[in-house]
Amino acid sequence: MSTGKINVTADNIFPIIKKFLYSDHEIFLRELVSNAVDASQKLKTLSRIGESKAELGDLTIQVKVDKENKTLTISDRGVGMTTDEINKYINELAFSGAEEFVKKYEDKADGAAIIGHFGLGFYSSFMVAKKVEIFSLSHQEGAKAAYWTCDGSPEFTLEENDSRKERGTDIVLHINEDSEEFLEEGRIRELLKKYCRFLPVPIQFGEKEITETEGEGDDKKETKKTVADIVNVTDPAWTKAPADLESDDYKEFYRQLYPMTFEEPLFHIHLNVDYPFDLNGILFFPRIKPNMDLQRNKIQLYQNQVFVTDNLEGIVPDFLTLLHGVIDSKDIPLNVSRSYLQADGAVKKISGHITKKVADKLSSLFKKDREDFEQKWNDIKVIIEYGMLSDDKFFEKAQKFGLYQNVEDQYFTFEEYIEKIKASQTDKDGNLVVLYAAHKDGQHSFIKKAQNKGYDVLLMEGPLVSHLMQKLEGGDHKVKFARVDSDAIDKLIPKDEEAVSLLSEEQKEKLKPLIEEEVDKASYTVVLEAMDSQEAPFTITVPEFMRRMKEMSMTGGGMMGMGDMPDMYNLIVNTNHPLASRILDEKDESERKALINRAKDLALLSQNLLHGEALTNFVEQQFEALN
Ligand code: ADP
Ligand code: MG
Repeated sequence: MSTGKINVTADNIFPIIKKFLYSDHEIFLRELVSNAVDASQKLKTLSRIGESKAELGDLTIQVKVDKENKTLTISDRGVGMTTDEINKYINELAFSGAEEFVKKYEDKADGAAIIGHFGLGFYSSFMVAKKVEIFSLSHQEGAKAAYWTCDGSPEFTLEENDSRKERGTDIVLHINEDSEEFLEEGRIRELLKKYCRFLPVPIQFGEKEITETEGEGDDKKETKKTVADIVNVTDPAWTKAPADLESDDYKEFYRQLYPMTFEEPLFHIHLNVDYPFDLNGILFFPRIKPNMDLQRNKIQLYQNQVFVTDNLEGIVPDFLTLLHGVIDSKDIPLNVSRSYLQADGAVKKISGHITKKVADKLSSLFKKDREDFEQKWNDIKVIIEYGMLSDDKFFEKAQKFGLYQNVEDQYFTFEEYIEKIKASQTDKDGNLVVLYAAHKDGQHSFIKKAQNKGYDVLLMEGPLVSHLMQKLEGGDHKVKFARVDSDAIDKLIPKDEEAVSLLSEEQKEKLKPLIEEEVDKASYTVVLEAMDSQEAPFTITVPEFMRRMKEMSMTGGGMMGMGDMPDMYNLIVNTNHPLASRILDEKDESERKALINRAKDLALLSQNLLHGEALTNFVEQQFEALN
């Protein structure tokens, strides 16, 4: 037996490890189980290349809780360690890693930010254990079993000791009083599910009862059986070649990933690169309903099948954090902080590659079956529009498959749409005017007016459309977006022929104040327009600029503070409508006021803007008129 002092400069680093890793104690289990996996994989490799004569047998890793003795044990049947190896790998190397960690982060207040990304490895067990024991038997022929123990002080004991009879290693943690949560079966199962779900070696945590049925009908026999409870799937779909997988395999994998989700994904993208960087993974496009809360953190990042994080902020472009699935890369450095990770060259390349793959997949789906793509459009457009706004390269690619839907439910790419409206919707200054509505029902009267003129109306709804329109307006085409209710239709697409006014300037000057007297000046601006006599006498519009600024400031961007501005409307009076002359000619003042108010209320009503007392009064008046 030998005792020794772990070679430390700090007197006792264990309290420091504990302090710095305060919020993330649970990662010790990930570290110990992945060491057990590494040891098993190493043995497989040695055996394959003929450097180990050991019988592999069943390599299942066991995790056991002993509540009475307050221990947690992780056992593997991997390569094992001799006393020399323990000296080298545990006393010297592993310890120097732990020590380096402590030195680096001693003065940093935000220890929490780096935890979980720092492979503290074996010594992370001291975050939860007051004493750790290693029982190990190396696979090498004639090896003697080794025993190591350390109580969290720099002193350790190492000896040859035959308490381990089988090849492999037991790591026994004597759990601290303040960490007894890790003696709870439920807690350990939860952690195994979180970190170890797709590790490549079977991991058993206790046993479970299953019911087997044999035969059918009256011959049906049910037998209960106790079997090993294996917590992981050792060969998840992303580790296989796309050619070996059917579409059902992807669906099955989606269910493994999100057992609590019943929705099926719309489609998947299989990432499979080994040069110039290593990247595997499967991303799923979920169905995203326009007004659904966006869910992030559904993509899981793995390194060699070990779960690292589900917060991919800064690792993939923000718009892709709305996707689901798994990314696994050996090239993502784990032993560093998140800010370092975001600046890492490999991570940047990976991020660019993923964006490109997603764009390529969308483009091929669009080309292969456009009808199907159109059907999915409303479920995927939020992600695509977000991508178009935040990533110029993606925007360029998306010009080929990004769709615009009109109120007749036809879909167009932007180029196709421009072609469609070019002839009729170019105004006298050569601007192409894209008319759009946000609600088919809410803006029905305006949509109809536009259609009567032979114009087409797009349906632009969702939180991002004002930003998207802004971007398209800045593009190659001389194009302007105008919501159908933002002005009189003839003003939205002004043509050369000015409508002749039936009223003289003098008459107009008389008419305007009469109407202004009846409306709330803070919210309404009265505008006189000479329009077709068939058009409505009064129309309420919301100027495009004002409304768009407000919308954009509510979703970030535009002018700050605009969101709080009161609503501003234009009351457009058609001076060519007979009502205009009638108001002017009406000598009876109360009769005239009634005319104006009724026309104004009707205009408000058609826009769903008449509410409360004003609505009640209006309806009462209408009923009275029936008497
Ligand atoms: P890392 O896994 O990054 O090398 P660790 O601190 O987790 O660092 O482990 C240190 C070393 O101890 C490992 O590299 C390995 O050589 C050895 N080791 C740890 N656990 C086991 C085990 N269960 N079986 C065999 N060797 C082990
Ligand atoms: Mg390790």
